[in-house]
Amino acid sequence: MNYLSTRGHPDRKRFCEILLEGLAPDGGLYLPEKYPQVDTATLAKWRDLPYAELAFEILSLYIDDIAPTDLKAICAKTYTAEVFGTDEIVPLRELEDGVYIEALSNGPTLAFKDMAMQLLGNLFEYELARRGAELNILGATSGDTGSAAEYAMRGKKGVRVFMTSPDGRMSPFQQAQMFSLQDENIHNIAITGVFDDCQDIVKAVSNDLGFKRKYRIGTVNSINWARLLAQVVYYFAGYFQATASNDKPVSFTVPSGNFGNVCAGHVARMMGLPIQTLVVATNENNVLDEFFRTGIYRVRSAADTHETSSPSMDISKASNFERFVFDLVGRDAGKLRKLFVEDLGLEGRFDLSADPAFKQAAERFGFKSSRSTHADRLATIRDTEKRFATLVDPHTADGLKSAREFLVPGVPMVVLETALPIKFAATIVEALGHEPDRPAKFEGIEALPKRVVKLPADAEAVKAYIAQNCD
Ligand SMILES: *Cc1c(COP(=O)(O)O)cnc(C)c1O
Repeated sequence: MNYLSTRGHPDRKRFCEILLEGLAPDGGLYLPEKYPQVDTATLAKWRDLPYAELAFEILSLYIDDIAPTDLKAICAKTYTAEVFGTDEIVPLRELEDGVYIEALSNGPTLAFKDMAMQLLGNLFEYELARRGAELNILGATSGDTGSAAEYAMRGKKGVRVFMTSPDGRMSPFQQAQMFSLQDENIHNIAITGVFDDCQDIVKAVSNDLGFKRKYRIGTVNSINWARLLAQVVYYFAGYFQATASNDKPVSFTVPSGNFGNVCAGHVARMMGLPIQTLVVATNENNVLDEFFRTGIYRVRSAADTHETSSPSMDISKASNFERFVFDLVGRDAGKLRKLFVEDLGLEGRFDLSADPAFKQAAERFGFKSSRSTHADRLATIRDTEKRFATLVDPHTADGLKSAREFLVPGVPMVVLETALPIKFAATIVEALGHEPDRPAKFEGIEALPKRVVKLPADAEAVKAYIAQNCD
């Protein structure tokens, strides 16, 4: 399997070459040259496989430069009941007639990002050992991504994590999750400033090419193809649990931000999994909903990006969206470049409303979309507790609200649960007047010793800290 860039670079690469890379050299995103096709006979063979074996089967179609026995061992080591809480790994529960919730948030940090990041940690360790190389991951987080990366990389050989976060601005629970890690290869850096300062620091350090090369600086952001690929697996696992045979369609609703999660659903559908509809659920930051309704994709400025009670969906520009648009325009790299380099670059928007391709987003690719507000979120959290004695987190609540707008009799609707309520306790308290349950392993974490350094919002200070801690 070879990978190409959405922007038309002539090089073709193998999986392990793009594993440790971010963007392609031309600024595009990597995609497989074609989507492997899965027929009903294959679906029948996969239906009863344990999750780790299903992951191996799917990953094998995309990875041909890791020996099968090694890849199998990596999958088996990643997807265990010990790490993800149940033998099913992603258990499905029926909420009401035809509406299901697929639990993706029982990993180490209680958000679905663990599903991909845990695999990435094991793949990184494997590939770095094979090359005799090291990697220093530098990141900025306001919550979910940073903690998922730290829990995935802790104790891994050849990898260090330097994670910046805005001092005092994460929830106490999220802070405690990250800062209580005592692993030597995990470095928490609390920056005196806001999240944008942290991101600016990461950019400044990455733009210093000499420093970047000398200290082997890398990232784990959501455009990494391996992360997306790992997420394809739970669409298959959800499908099998929601159906009794392989001729039945299923729809999914996905709380969306950077379009990584739902893009994995798109890939599963392109492989032939019988997915009828993919509902893109957004919050007040409705960049994606606007596109699927109007054909106009208009990125927002930081000032125009709302801080909402489903904060992991607060994006102004969806970093994985280019992958889907590439397929939408018939994989025409020239057309893609016009949209993403010229139009977005010059005007901050592109307009496909008059293009026949836009119609296909719904008709051929099955996409629908919706948007929720803070009031919707609170109402859904309350209603779900009252009628079903179930707590959902604010992001999953956005999904549930959107899902109900697209129900079709006889077609199961699976809502992806992207986090557990305890991560966003303040909104749960606002909705219900009481704290959400806390899984036993997180009892009292706020009182644990913290491993964190405080630094000013200054890239030079962060560079000096990295240099000091790299021997
Ligand atoms: C990251 C995240 C999302 C958004 O996922 P994307 O892949 O960026 O679309 C939604 N909900 C939660 C809880 C998240 O952590």
